[in-house]
Amino acid sequence: MDLSYAPAEEPFRGELRAWLQVNPPGPEPQALDDWVAHGKAWQRRLYEGGWCGVSWPAEYGGRGASLIEQIIFQEEMARAGTPQLINLAGLTMGGPVLIAHGTEAQKQRHLRPILAADEIWCQGFSEPNAGSDLAALTTRAVLDGDHFVVNGQKVWTSFAAYADWCMLLVRTDPTAPKHRGITFLLVDMHSPGITVRPLRQISGDEDFNEVFFTDVRVPRDQVVGAVNHGWQIAITTLMHERQTLTFSRQLQSRVALDALLALARAWPTPQAPLAGRPLARQQLAAAYIDSEAMKYTALRHLTRVLRGGEPGPEGSLEKLFWSELFQRMLENAVGLIGPFGQLVAGEPDAVDDGRWPHLMLYSRGRTIAAGSSEIQRTIIAERVLGLPRG
Ligand SMILES: Cc1cc2nc3c(=O)[nH]c(=O)nc-3n(C[C@H](O)[C@H](O)[C@H](O)COP(=O)(O)OP(=O)(O)OC[C@H]3O[C@@H](n4cnc5c(N)ncnc54)[C@H](O)[C@@H]3O)c2cc1C
Repeated sequence: MDLSYAPAEEPFRGELRAWLQVNPPGPEPQALDDWVAHGKAWQRRLYEGGWCGVSWPAEYGGRGASLIEQIIFQEEMARAGTPQLINLAGLTMGGPVLIAHGTEAQKQRHLRPILAADEIWCQGFSEPNAGSDLAALTTRAVLDGDHFVVNGQKVWTSFAAYADWCMLLVRTDPTAPKHRGITFLLVDMHSPGITVRPLRQISGDEDFNEVFFTDVRVPRDQVVGAVNHGWQIAITTLMHERQTLTFSRQLQSRVALDALLALARAWPTPQAPLAGRPLARQQLAAAYIDSEAMKYTALRHLTRVLRGGEPGPEGSLEKLFWSELFQRMLENAVGLIGPFGQLVAGEPDAVDDGRWPHLMLYSRGRTIAAGSSEIQRTIIAERVLGLPRG
């Protein structure tokens, strides 16, 4: 099997690499407001350079490039150690869903501002009593003339505190079976009646939010797809999330692994006091093998998509394997640096300014977000392996 890139694809890589050399993103600020401003400015620069939405149609501001070039883009971004793009939900879910299911007016209205990070998006799916069982959602939307009136609560809404638009799942027919009667709405986060309350995570970050909707009026033309048929659109969104995000995240975890290996190779140092122990060496070797297995699994999945397939339930394999390997690797990283693993950013002697314990705590959420590991195993059992439903 030849896994090298075709000669025709290499100029794309060379052009991007050269652009990144003269356009580095610069260090990421710590304070949330500064971080948001920096992230927006960086994504806008990429967009203006023609590097955002690489595989999106050119008529909507993308580059109209191939999926392979999109992958090369992600590889080069990881290689250059650039930050995660700030409009993650818009780029990986909102945009692809509108390209697949949106009206022409919705595409014209939203796709360019998503790419340029002029408008940040968030995903309003989960509720206090509807996470794994998402179809149990109860946020109501009632039609009143040309508007829906929305009441209810979402939770764990990443980046809602600075989002401009929300992909909101609402119940529009409470009498229908639970997977029906759901509608996918685009909601302006600046509408009257929306309250956002940040939640602090174990890592100290406040990416998460509770979002409350009280008589929020949403124009009817902001429905994606048909009223009461939002479930299928939600599923497309989740499959894009699992597949597209996982591909870029496995690259990020490889960057983290390379940094960890560099730290361990420098042993013996006070910064990695345990790196020479046989157990640590075995853990690092296992992390490397996991990372290679992940890479080839992701490439195999990509090959299927290139042959014309849509993201499918196999994305659950990648999501499950990646999120669990990421956690194992970071738990081992914190073990490797021994007592230094307790020091966080800003503390004297913190290794890599507290990167390892912070990433380790952040990684806990990865086996929950986009469907927990248990849910991924159920999907694999039923929809990939064809086992009877439990
Ligand atoms: C980092 C992060 C970011 C997130 N961002 C967003 C976002 O932007 N927007 C959004 O809408 N949501 C977001 N979420 C929410 C996420 O989608 C939910 O947390 C997830 O779907 C699980 O739902 P829950 O938290 O309600 O847990 P529950 O569904 O209550 O699950 C609790 C536990 O029970 C297990 N469980 C539940 N049902 C079953 C079953 N049938 N079989 C076996 N085990 C089961 C689960 O695996 C889990 O261990 C985010 C979550 C995280 C961690």
